[in-house]
Amino acid sequence: MPTDVEIAAATPMLPIEEIAAKIGIPANEIFRYGPHKAKVSLPYVQGMQRREGSKLILVTATSPTPAGEGKTTTTVGLVDGLAHIGETAAAALREPSMGPVFGMKGGAAGGGKSQLNPMTDINLHFTGDFASIAEAHNLLAALIDNHLQQGNELGIDPRRITFKRVLDMNDRALRDIVIGLGGPTNGVPRESGFDIVVASEVMAIFCLATSIDDLKERLGRIVVGHTYDTEPVTAADLGAHGAMTALLADALAPNLVQTLEGNPAFVHGGPFANIAHGCNSVTATNTALAHADWVVTEAGFGADLGAEKFIDLKCRFTGLRPDAAVLVATIRSMKYHGGVTVTDLTSENVDAMRSGMSNIERHLHNLREVWGLPVVVGLNRFPSDTDAEIAAFVEGIEKLGARVEVCTHFSDGGAGAAGLARAIVEATEGGTPDLHFTYDDGLTLVEKVEKIATTIYGAGSIAIPPAVAKQIAQFEAEGYGHLPVCIAKTQKSFTTDDAMRGAPSGHVLEVREVRLAAGAGFVVFVCGSLMTMPGLPKKPAALAIDVDSEGHITGLF
Ligand code: ADP
Ligand code: MG
Repeated sequence: MPTDVEIAAATPMLPIEEIAAKIGIPANEIFRYGPHKAKVSLPYVQGMQRREGSKLILVTATSPTPAGEGKTTTTVGLVDGLAHIGETAAAALREPSMGPVFGMKGGAAGGGKSQLNPMTDINLHFTGDFASIAEAHNLLAALIDNHLQQGNELGIDPRRITFKRVLDMNDRALRDIVIGLGGPTNGVPRESGFDIVVASEVMAIFCLATSIDDLKERLGRIVVGHTYDTEPVTAADLGAHGAMTALLADALAPNLVQTLEGNPAFVHGGPFANIAHGCNSVTATNTALAHADWVVTEAGFGADLGAEKFIDLKCRFTGLRPDAAVLVATIRSMKYHGGVTVTDLTSENVDAMRSGMSNIERHLHNLREVWGLPVVVGLNRFPSDTDAEIAAFVEGIEKLGARVEVCTHFSDGGAGAAGLARAIVEATEGGTPDLHFTYDDGLTLVEKVEKIATTIYGAGSIAIPPAVAKQIAQFEAEGYGHLPVCIAKTQKSFTTDDAMRGAPSGHVLEVREVRLAAGAGFVVFVCGSLMTMPGLPKKPAALAIDVDSEGHITGLF
């Protein structure tokens, strides 16, 4: 089979105004970036309402193997599958970060016959949103250091500044740095560092903002550090939020591209699923829901992280309500949870597959019983899956009383997800489900984390070191106790230990650190280690990427 970039390059694209016209977006409301990419004008989309009868489908997954289970691939496949059975559908997805593109994972525009196009553009720079977000972020960082240089009227304690700089690259050498060296004209020396753009609070804010005014207000609330009197200092205190918003106003308009089968996809924003909420922008989701009958969206990592944050953060903030969920699973991930090592995942092992299904059982329980959503399990078929493994998987899911569809969109495009599309149409026939959040706003911060740990992760309790408890008390004293929580933990396990596969019970969720994201509107609880600036692997994907003399890019996957 040809590679992803070869398949994408060989697929003819429709002019972007034809894609817009498919869902009723007038040609004069899009701004074209070449023939196949556009932004939909912000005045047109601002305040746009969900269309009566439109359906929102959340694509989530089991706890993944290191390779990913195919959520993006399935999101694209389902849009094409819905179109295949005669429905009007659009995807709402995150923009890829160049860190993983040049690092280990590769691109994030789907795979095989279920991809977004122009694939190379989407994976590299795209319409420049991430550059705008980085500039806005770094403008605030520059204003902080200039404030120190110009007399420090606010009394900011340089040792208590938490706001770093960002760039969209995996570059571990920039994690911890000293800035301001070189004498009095070069600033005030202090320790700082870089995060990757997708870990920036500005990225999370960008994705949650519903309008320019909301964006500006949220940016103003960013807490950059504390004064010598331990009072919080915000971006608004520094007068930074107006100029930051000016840098972001154009970027806030959602991007429109197409699937390989010529269906619309809104690809906009890309917050990390660990330190942030891991979903594409609210403007993209709302624009899609205002135009298409079916909107399929992905939330980062397994359902314990991705779906939980989609529901408890994005839905709580916006009033959005999903109509059903697709739980993506692979035979490989079931074997992985059944104890098989990564290198043996392609050999048949029905027993390990069966035993690893404890993982999907818990995710199914959470989606159906805790959050109250209708679910269809989408088995994303890989070439190494055997008929015996698939039969055992289907039998196991049916025993749990859930609907399962074996999908081949990776090799067959939309036709391979037609069964999933029909199952989703049927699953939503009962009307909009009554979505339950995991916890109420009124609980304390710690109670909220406890609720997630015990109901979603199967934990027995949570442990909070005294220094962290003090920090939580300070956030509460500063008036942030009512905020929802965003848990940062490994995606590979229900626990904080990658090695604990399947569905462990009764474990202790160890909280290591808390961080305030006042502009985004949540408190991050770091459980286990948190990487906000990844490194490159021994053999970075960048080494395989090239471009020929005509400008054709190769080596992206
Ligand atoms: P996720 O969104 O869950 O992280 P992706 O959709 O990005 O996962 O897929 C992860 C990787 O697996 C991609 O490189 C994709 O091309 C590949 N992939 C997905 N589905 C299949 C499949 N059915 N067969 C082979 N490779 C696949
Ligand atoms: Mg993905």
